[in-house]
Amino acid sequence: MKGTMSEIEAVIGLETHIQLNTRTKIFCACRADSWGADPNTNICPVCTGLPGVLPVPNQAVIDKAVRLAAAMHVDEIRPLSYFARKNYFYPDLPKGYQISQYDETLARGGHLDLPMPDGSVRHVRIVKLHQEEDAGKTVHQGGRRLIDFNRCGVPLVEMVTAPDLRSADEAAQYLIRLRQLLRWLEVSDGDMERGQLRCDANVSIRPVGFEGLNPKTEIKNVNSIENVRAAIEKEIERQKREVEAGRRIEAWTLEWDEDTGTLRKMRSKETEADYRYFREPDLLPVRLEAGWLAAQRAALPELPLERKARFIAQYGLPAYDAEILTEERTLSEYFEAAVAARGGEAKSVSNWMMNDVLRLMRERGVLAGDLKLRPQHLASILRMVDERKITGSTGKELLARVEAGGQDPETLVAAEGLGQVSDEGALRQVARRIVEDNPGQVEAYRKGKVTLIGWFVGQVMRQTGGKADPQRTRAVLEEILAAGTDA
Ligand code: ZN
Ligand code: MN
Repeated sequence: MKGTMSEIEAVIGLETHIQLNTRTKIFCACRADSWGADPNTNICPVCTGLPGVLPVPNQAVIDKAVRLAAAMHVDEIRPLSYFARKNYFYPDLPKGYQISQYDETLARGGHLDLPMPDGSVRHVRIVKLHQEEDAGKTVHQGGRRLIDFNRCGVPLVEMVTAPDLRSADEAAQYLIRLRQLLRWLEVSDGDMERGQLRCDANVSIRPVGFEGLNPKTEIKNVNSIENVRAAIEKEIERQKREVEAGRRIEAWTLEWDEDTGTLRKMRSKETEADYRYFREPDLLPVRLEAGWLAAQRAALPELPLERKARFIAQYGLPAYDAEILTEERTLSEYFEAAVAARGGEAKSVSNWMMNDVLRLMRERGVLAGDLKLRPQHLASILRMVDERKITGSTGKELLARVEAGGQDPETLVAAEGLGQVSDEGALRQVARRIVEDNPGQVEAYRKGKVTLIGWFVGQVMRQTGGKADPQRTRAVLEEILAAGTDA
């Protein structure tokens, strides 16, 4: 392969393992999530493969896997699918095989929609989507290998893309969109640091315009999106250097070392034949009724990108707003509920959400769905601001007050006299006193330093505890200051 660096493109496919957030494991009644639990405290004879036990499929796993498959736009969810044994020997795999799927998997085809910077949408094809159980964990400690079986039997969906990604950044974007979708569908928490979303990346390079595939390397054990991006970038650069130096790329398996930010060569990879797949004899095939499948598909929520497009079309939101408001499902639902309660005014609802409600969420570390400040509270605060019953700054204070106590904002305003100073006479009195008390500033203003008007407005706001309408205050002050000149 010849050519300069600029004519080379990367060809990347991602293999992801998604931990489903069911209550129990895939074939037994142990808790599925045992993050942080003491080793080997969340196990039973089934998930540790003791002799004489039989696995029983967890219906919730199949429900969630089907929901995910439907959201990946699969061509077909098979009415009849089979579990298979994947045989390999590894200390943290007590049965000596993993129950997975092989030929007749749950679903066939599909793609993930990946928005591109130019506004187009790339269909990243899915070539494999199946259910399987997780293996245990091997921990290296003090020169010894310790085995923790807690993770054995945790439900996974394995999903493999076609080599449709062209840069480390696109790979990172794919994972960001996948994680968004998993949380949106409530099938997985998608936390990479906790191993709920794991990613291996297949990377090769080729001259732009060349349609074939060159030998690839596989990067394993990367546990954050930032590390996926960094590891792939490193590997693309390494392959470019190898090719420039006239060397061949060998099909290595590489391990990312997070601490040093480097890639290390691992064992050479098994081939499929090594796994001696065969149908799992202890489990019946999974039969999905046509009516049930249709109901599952119908119950699929509107997906993030569809909702984003609808927010732009229906509410006239800028793409930027629509993107942020649909990052997470409860946030998008919160927005629509607030707009409905406000009776329109979508852009002003969006502004307040993006500036103030999101800040509140970050401070409290919660999702929109968990805020005490409900959409109707936000709507009523916005209504009071628009009707000039309260000032904008009082409105912003109210957000935090309602979030802290959960009271109705209108009741708070009435009870604590937070209403705007709307009495023109009272406002004039305050303004006149400030003009009288500050002859120096008045003189400077009248000599042409008109920017001092802001200072005068500030004084009135201070005296009224922020409850004066800034625009009217300004008008009143300008009038008083001008009248003084004429006199
Ligand atoms: Zn178990
Ligand atoms: Mn797998």
